[in-house]
Amino acid sequence: MGEPVDRLLVVGAGPKAMAVAAKAYVLRELGLPAPQVVVVEPHAVGGNWLPTGGWTDGQHRLGTSPEKDVGFPYHSTWARGHNRAINEAMMAFGWTSFLIDRGTYAEWIDRGRPNPHHHVWAKYLQWVAKKAEVEIVPGAVRKIAAAADGWLVSVVDADGVASVIDADRLMITGPGDSRRALATHPKVLSIADFWDLVGRRRLPVSSRAAVIGGGETAGSAMDELVRHDVLTVSVISPAATIYTRGESYFENSLYSDPAKWRGLSIEERRDVVRRTDRGVFSVRVQENLLGDNRVHHLQGRVVRVAEQDEGVALTLRNEGRPDRVHVFDLVVDATGGQPLWFLEMFDVDAADLVELAIGGPITQPRIEAAIGHDLAVTGLDAKLYLPNLAGLAQGPGFPNLSCLGELSDRVLQAGPARARSVAVRTRERSAGR
Ligand SMILES: Cc1cc2nc3c(=O)[nH]c(=O)nc-3n(C[C@H](O)[C@H](O)[C@H](O)COP(=O)(O)OP(=O)(O)OC[C@H]3O[C@@H](n4cnc5c(N)ncnc54)[C@H](O)[C@@H]3O)c2cc1C
Repeated sequence: MGEPVDRLLVVGAGPKAMAVAAKAYVLRELGLPAPQVVVVEPHAVGGNWLPTGGWTDGQHRLGTSPEKDVGFPYHSTWARGHNRAINEAMMAFGWTSFLIDRGTYAEWIDRGRPNPHHHVWAKYLQWVAKKAEVEIVPGAVRKIAAAADGWLVSVVDADGVASVIDADRLMITGPGDSRRALATHPKVLSIADFWDLVGRRRLPVSSRAAVIGGGETAGSAMDELVRHDVLTVSVISPAATIYTRGESYFENSLYSDPAKWRGLSIEERRDVVRRTDRGVFSVRVQENLLGDNRVHHLQGRVVRVAEQDEGVALTLRNEGRPDRVHVFDLVVDATGGQPLWFLEMFDVDAADLVELAIGGPITQPRIEAAIGHDLAVTGLDAKLYLPNLAGLAQGPGFPNLSCLGELSDRVLQAGPARARSVAVRTRERSAGR
């Protein structure tokens, strides 16, 4: 009988999946224990950075530096005696290795190291997948059930054929569905509708356009809208203004190295996230928008969407002030992902296990507070890694591209009990004991 396999299933072949799979490959190459990483993806590796994912048309640029790649910050500290070797081996999967492989490294340097377009970032992720021999299962995860010592994950492929994968551990990535919109109205577009129309050059002509949201999704949509023939473009968000992402060493270092994070109070952590991540546009997007006198910011939460004459009336609410109504002839819902989107796939028993672990009905704050050092929900026997919800508890860089190398270290550092005993047995055998 063969050894039981420690299988880590990742939902979605984005940067987080590639970071974990590449690190697992490197660990195996170095003779260190690592799980079998299986990645389920309905579109393509890097699908959300391509038009098919509905979050971009692929033609906009990454907000962060591409050197924050799948190995960044190349600072493994947990595998005593092997850390240097792990860091060096991971360099082979880095952004600059990708450029060297393509023969475009010198050009990239000479052009001033520009941030790549989203579709090029997807190409980079695909290159990592190939080089690290990542096992991709084509299809979408539809259902997640609890098994005796892990998870049973149901996958449906493009032809509608269903299969079930038994996994010891599970990692959820990505923001969920891009086709959701605030209201069903032909002039209110989901972010997927928006990019689809942009891609087909069918975006309706409008004089008063509005983008709801203040994050990366809204930033890219604004960046696109100002290239079109519009009289005004309003960005709507609850904050008093749209902040520019702080890019100084002090801010960036908290993202790259979360070591200091646990020492901050929850209020200080919320403050950092508010000032650097929520309701902020990147410096480059801001520079593009600032000089354009068609661009305005409107403060408020949209609480009502109604048809008015030829347009759409949005009611904006700000606490302590009367509601205000603004009329637009094109509205893009760019409020972004749903942090708890994956729970729709959990069956009752699996959801009950999560509830038990977090000590009450499932809410975002409860889950966020329960994320441990390994980026999994504390108190669950079978690991459930939720890096997208790890920002508050473990570090603001985990939900995004800021410290993918640290993310993979945390996820791969500790396996389930069964896997650890397998690993120990394997080591003992190779040491001839
Ligand atoms: C327009 C835009 C620009 C951004 N730019 C930056 C940036 O410059 N820097 C930064 O740090 N962050 C940026 N972000 C945030 C970004 O989403 C994250 O940093 C990063 O992509 C998250 O990586 P991921 O691996 O979690 O998910 P993703 O890259 O989103 O990958 C998730 C994958 O899951 C797949 N999937 C979805 N549903 C299922 C299912 N049911 N079963 C299986 N697979 C599924 C999708 O097809 C997708 O490929 C940006 C976000 C947006 C929307």
